[in-house]
Amino acid sequence: MSTPALILTLLLLAFLFWLGWYWFFRRRRVRPLTKEQEALLERQVDFYRRLSAEDKKRFEQSISHFLEDVAITGVETEVTAADRLLVAASAVIPLFGFPGWSYRNLNEVLLYPDTFDEEYQVKAAQRNIIGMVGSGAMNRMMILSQPALRESFSHPERRHNVGIHEFIHLLDKADGSTDGIPEVLIPHEYVVPWLRMMHHEIKEIKDDDSDINPYGATNEAEFLSVAAEYFFSQPGKFERKHPELYEMMSKIFRQEP
Ligand SMILES: [Zn+2]
Repeated sequence: MSTPALILTLLLLAFLFWLGWYWFFRRRRVRPLTKEQEALLERQVDFYRRLSAEDKKRFEQSISHFLEDVAITGVETEVTAADRLLVAASAVIPLFGFPGWSYRNLNEVLLYPDTFDEEYQVKAAQRNIIGMVGSGAMNRMMILSQPALRESFSHPERRHNVGIHEFIHLLDKADGSTDGIPEVLIPHEYVVPWLRMMHHEIKEIKDDDSDINPYGATNEAEFLSVAAEYFFSQPGKFERKHPELYEMMSKIFRQEP
């Protein structure tokens, strides 16, 4: 081999080596959260506060991953650092029992101010106003009301959490149908008992004999999301009031919040 060809080959090899190195590390390294971000989580996210020191680290890493993968955009509103963390926490909480999993069916979360919704969705059902998972042209997108998102975390005792609600819909949707049976999470043998439990509890809600949000009686998909809001926001109370549902949902989500 002539000298220029040798030099060229070496340069090419060095370039390929650098490219490989760059790819490997860029894709793997997640930026750790800042002290301010950790303090925000501690102050605003009950679920995080209850975790062990080791699990907190894992939670923070999942938050970082999510924030690197998914864009969070304000529509006629300014998105704060805390808002970004609350969106990420809503995403991380339902999947916390599945280390390394992420949302493959999401690119962007839009945060709307309330006024925007009133202008454009006056006749929509209440739930459509505070959050929705996009379909059609809005596929791979989620819309959340910014004030509803903030309230979800500042008032966990209300057992409503719009962020968790919509991320559960997204997990439910991952198998192709939003039907209350998140097949990506739920082991096959639990499907029939889970359906039976949902139908039983939906009947209790309709008979006004349940403290689960009546919106959960709309259909199985809404039941799953609404029950999960309660399960993750007030796990102690949920376990006392609904021990069987709690046990089943601990199996579905592989965690005991
Ligand atoms: Zn819903």
